Amino acid sequence: MRSVVEHQQAVAALFGNPRPVLRPLTDVHGAALAREIVAPISLPPFDNSAMDGFAVRSADFVDASPQHPVTFPVTDDIPAGRTDVPVLAAGTAHRIMTGAPVPSGADVVIPVEAAQSALGMSRPPARSAESAVTISSALPAGRNIRRVGSDITAGAPVLAAGTVIGAAQIGILAALGFTEVPVYAQQRVAILSTGSELVRPGSPLLPGQIYESNGAMLTAACIEAGAQAQHMHFVPDDIGEFLRRLREISVDADLIITSGGVSAGAYEVVKEALTEVGGVEFVKVAMQPGKPQGCGRFRFADGQSIPIITVPGNPVSSMVSFEVFIREPLRAAMGLPIRRDRIRARLDTAVTSPPGKRQFQRGVFVDRPDGPWITPIGPPASHHLSNLAHADVLVDIPADAVDLAAGDEIEVIRI
Ligand code: AMP
Ligand code: MG
Repeated sequence: MRSVVEHQQAVAALFGNPRPVLRPLTDVHGAALAREIVAPISLPPFDNSAMDGFAVRSADFVDASPQHPVTFPVTDDIPAGRTDVPVLAAGTAHRIMTGAPVPSGADVVIPVEAAQSALGMSRPPARSAESAVTISSALPAGRNIRRVGSDITAGAPVLAAGTVIGAAQIGILAALGFTEVPVYAQQRVAILSTGSELVRPGSPLLPGQIYESNGAMLTAACIEAGAQAQHMHFVPDDIGEFLRRLREISVDADLIITSGGVSAGAYEVVKEALTEVGGVEFVKVAMQPGKPQGCGRFRFADGQSIPIITVPGNPVSSMVSFEVFIREPLRAAMGLPIRRDRIRARLDTAVTSPPGKRQFQRGVFVDRPDGPWITPIGPPASHHLSNLAHADVLVDIPADAVDLAAGDEIEVIRI
């Protein structure tokens, strides 16, 4: 039997290096940057007002006080978005809005709250001769002005290669004017379930049938991992049909995941079909759940091939297999950080584990004043999907551990 680590290495070896591509800004959320981003422009791109108020020259009212207020005629109005370059004459004021360009000649903005003006902030624009503003205290030059480049200067590095793009990164890229971004390509995963007992949710069940769930679950797991996933539903346990569908879906995929049909029964369609075709090895891994596994390359007629990973059909085995074998190399192939949080915690219930097998039990994380604890949930049986749906950790029980007592410390993977 193969160890978990050996099979992890076999699966990881199937993936290539991340592939740099240019993608529209609208498509890069969740992707990793393929190279460093350097600012093509400065931010702000021009000196602009940080306040709604009046742009003036600080030298014109250095001695202003409540006893000796200074009054300026208001000679222009500068809303945000004005693109000509107004000039402020000495001894005058321009009414200015937040984000509007500071006129040349002005070096300070008096907030509307600190100025007395009949004009206030009402429309229409202040151009009439009577418009005036009175100021009764001095302000130092530069106050309430956002200088060009005070956020980023043109040519400065902004985001490092490898940065995972979230909302804030999209924000800065858009602010810098990017429409396309160099990222690592998303892996396109095609997922195919097998089983003659499977029925599409929404159709009535006959006795002996169950709803197909692995496909939907693995699709979601791939998307959560940052990949693009196409859920191909399922095929019955028929070798011809399986291979036909497999050839179809391989065309637009970087990776195929199949579920079911790899264990020791009489109708193991995946194992039988791919043993015939070749390129995939089927092994037993010393773990529970998830013992029967397969991985390799699926070859097309033209000699090209793509990685294929065949996980067992029991839903919990499927999901644990994805978590243990696929998630990390899939993310690595997209340049994304791969490690889940692993922490040590204490078990609040005794658990047993089969000798010689690494067990991945479902559990719930409990943050107590004396440290992290774990409540294992449910039996180890691999068909208990409800336990999986309540779990937020996988308890990683080493192969040589057989009896663990309540209070024993153990490593858990936060999922
Ligand atoms: P298999 O790995 O094909 O032997 O399937 C093992 C168990 O998992 C059987 O009880 C199957 O009915 C069940 N199973 C297999 N594939 C799926 C699936 N896609 N969705 C839900 N259950 C499945
Ligand atoms: Mg089956």
